[in-house]
Amino acid sequence: MKLFSCNQCRNLLYFENTRCTACAAVLGFLPDQLDLVALRQSSDKRTWYPIGGQSAYRMCVNYAQHQVCNWMVEDSSDQEYCLACRLNQTIPDLSVSGNLLLWQRLETEKRRLVYSLLQLGLPVEPKNSSGQGLAFDFLADTAPSFSELNKVRTGHSDGLITLNIAEADDAERERMREQMAEPYRTILGHFRHESGHYYWDRLIRDSQHLRAFRGLFGDERLDYQQALQNHYRQGPPEDWQQRHVSAYASSHAWEDWAETWAHYLHMVDTLETAQQFGMRIDPQQGRSPPARDMQNFNAYGQGPFEPLIEHWLPLTYALNSLNRSMGHAHAYPFYLSGGAMQKLGFVHQLVHGP
Ligand SMILES: [Zn+2]
Ligand SMILES: [Zn+2]
Ligand SMILES: [Zn+2]
Repeated sequence: MKLFSCNQCRNLLYFENTRCTACAAVLGFLPDQLDLVALRQSSDKRTWYPIGGQSAYRMCVNYAQHQVCNWMVEDSSDQEYCLACRLNQTIPDLSVSGNLLLWQRLETEKRRLVYSLLQLGLPVEPKNSSGQGLAFDFLADTAPSFSELNKVRTGHSDGLITLNIAEADDAERERMREQMAEPYRTILGHFRHESGHYYWDRLIRDSQHLRAFRGLFGDERLDYQQALQNHYRQGPPEDWQQRHVSAYASSHAWEDWAETWAHYLHMVDTLETAQQFGMRIDPQQGRSPPARDMQNFNAYGQGPFEPLIEHWLPLTYALNSLNRSMGHAHAYPFYLSGGAMQKLGFVHQLVHGP
């Protein structure tokens, strides 16, 4: 993620902020510029201008009405919602107490996903405007929630990503993480994973990359339901770490792809954040300086894949050590084998390829 600063007072800002904590300016994210800026309102109170800028914007309706978004819409557009919110097909029932907060958490993480997709230059279009677009359903379990039949399953089907809003409840998500014996479970992780299934359909299914995909990830035509059943019954093969980024990735070629895709997004976004903070990681205590300086490094940019890995591995050691120093679990509970890195390299080639 880029580092944002207030264009009125230079204070550092977080991507989610709606007000500058130093000068109290109203903030808005401009998707067309991928920038978070301080705004001034027009005298008729209809539009907003970036301070020092001339282009007029309106607040996304979900910003103005519900405060679950902080993105802007160009005033010249006939859209009421921002690009991220236009992907919503179903939002949580706001008459249910607590749902507004859960929705807010989901939207915050969804915008982080959309930011990454835009940074990578991937097509992001709402399903209701394009047959091959993307949409989100944020659904709640129907009572009685203890019945498996009434459970909303997080998943992807033909451009529609469904997420159970219980995933935005920290206690519930942690309970699921424990139950599934997963080292890592976050809302953003879900979004990144499910978007992987969507982009598989768009970038690989009908493309010349399908052969190379099968060579690396395996044959996706194998019975998917059966493969998942086997995975949950028998667990992953003992040597899964040699080929996959996660145990779940070993269940089926599609899941391997989605897990690898999510992992690639974790990598490039975290690397961009580190680069923006001017971080320089030297885990050898001065004995061997990093092969490349991170100063002019663009994690989202084109170029060879190897520098990403060269920066990523020491960064993850530092990240985990910092987290442990604070008494938290590892931020990055993964090990990347050569096999897994090769798959990540494939994702990199694909998103930046011709
Ligand atoms: Zn400010
Ligand atoms: Zn919005
Ligand atoms: Zn999946």
